[in-house]
Amino acid sequence: MATIWLLGDQCSWQQPWLKQIDPALDRVVMIEANSRSTWQNYHKQKLVLVYSVMRHFRDELRQAGITVDYRQGERFDEELRAHIREYHVDELRLHMPGDDRMRRKIEQWAGENQACAVQMTEEYGFLVDRSEWPELLPDEKKWQMDSFYRLMRRRFNVLMTEDGKPLGGKWSLDAENRKPPKEGISFPEPEWIAPDEITREVIEEVETDFSDNYGKTAKFFSPVTAKEAERFFEHFVEHRLATFGDYQDAMVAGDPFMSHSMISTSLNMKLLDPLTVIRRVERAYEEGLAPLNAVEGFIRQVLGWREFIRGVYIRRMPSYQDVNALDHQRDLPAFFWTADTQMNCLHESVSAVVNHGYSHHIQRLMVLGNFATLAGIEPKQVSDWFNEMYIDAFDWVVLPNVLGMALYADGGQMSTKPYVSSGNYIDKMSDYCQSCVYNIKEKTGDNACPFHALYWHFLERHGEKFREHPRMKVMYKHLDNRTDETVNAQRTSAARIFERLETGEL
Ligand code: SF4
Repeated sequence: MATIWLLGDQCSWQQPWLKQIDPALDRVVMIEANSRSTWQNYHKQKLVLVYSVMRHFRDELRQAGITVDYRQGERFDEELRAHIREYHVDELRLHMPGDDRMRRKIEQWAGENQACAVQMTEEYGFLVDRSEWPELLPDEKKWQMDSFYRLMRRRFNVLMTEDGKPLGGKWSLDAENRKPPKEGISFPEPEWIAPDEITREVIEEVETDFSDNYGKTAKFFSPVTAKEAERFFEHFVEHRLATFGDYQDAMVAGDPFMSHSMISTSLNMKLLDPLTVIRRVERAYEEGLAPLNAVEGFIRQVLGWREFIRGVYIRRMPSYQDVNALDHQRDLPAFFWTADTQMNCLHESVSAVVNHGYSHHIQRLMVLGNFATLAGIEPKQVSDWFNEMYIDAFDWVVLPNVLGMALYADGGQMSTKPYVSSGNYIDKMSDYCQSCVYNIKEKTGDNACPFHALYWHFLERHGEKFREHPRMKVMYKHLDNRTDETVNAQRTSAARIFERLETGEL
């Protein structure tokens, strides 16, 4: 008698063991572990999502005639041992968890376990097999998303002409994804999913059992079944994809969603299939629903970036979690949990996270990540925050995106240079500065935008590393041409900003 153990982010009929289940002989075990030692201090919406998806899938399995032992307890290992005992399990079948710590724990447990045989197989939900990564990302070469993306386009024949060229003549239309927001611009709302009875019950439980956790549940509208995820995605394709391309990098106060698909949560929970999603968006282009820059920009994220960062995680863990190439040691400021800051760009970006467990990728990269890098926040604290506060966060997504791309903490494994900028980038790409107490036009002094002085401070303190970098030389030329008066004013401003960061006045 075999048991399939499904983890919270593996609730899909496409999981290999489920595809070959014999309901007369086999059963499924699902475990809701709620011990504080099991869970980090996750955003309440993340807990609602995982528990609700699990309970919905449990019901789907039971309706299909499959026996499900659904257990709620303190710890995974205790519940699993109890299940094996109670059901006299001969063989435990499971899918390789995406989380490296969990995978190691399970492998160790499987090695020590004498109670039954353990069979582990690759989990569903990705286009590249785990075993391929050493060849795709070899130690001796620089890892580049662009060449990997081209390989994927060819391999899956996506947006390709018949003679093997990229549709439209270019592999990436990134340069056409950077329109700043026009005054008064607005976007169609996503088709929010109203919580059903099961989800409402989970929300109540989470509000009671995890009342100290950060985040709010009032605006929980995420899909919790594959059907809901498909409906949510189809609405995006038909109504919101068209404007995604132009405004992919723009930021608008009060609208953290804009034209972003927000399907990362469903993809990472395995409610959506990546290749189906890619094919549907490709078809949307053929049907004239969206222009090529929107379609290619979307496909680049799913076919290119999502797979690539998983590869980096697989190739670099477990040491990757401790990288700190710039030796940044400052503590993460309290406003990352409360949004209580006068810097409007940070206030807008963190508020979205507190309310929705979400902000879009440019808020993550060029506001939150940019600030953390410039201010010298310890990378581990930043990646822990992203891991805990985002509804779509999983360790394999967060570590490369945050440590590698946003913070340059891996010393350039994933990006050629740090993604840092002064406040001018935020001013160009958003309407945040118009209603900020700080003045984007002032470069120094207590009213000046703090990003300016922090940017110069970053360049000064990391001159040895970046002065000769071909794409940063120009900035160092500016640095060298400053008058003594400017240098002093900028240094004084930066010192004042760090002081106010400590006292919570920023
Ligand atoms: Fe952010 Fe500076 Fe603009 Fe304020 S002025 S919103 S701190 S970039």
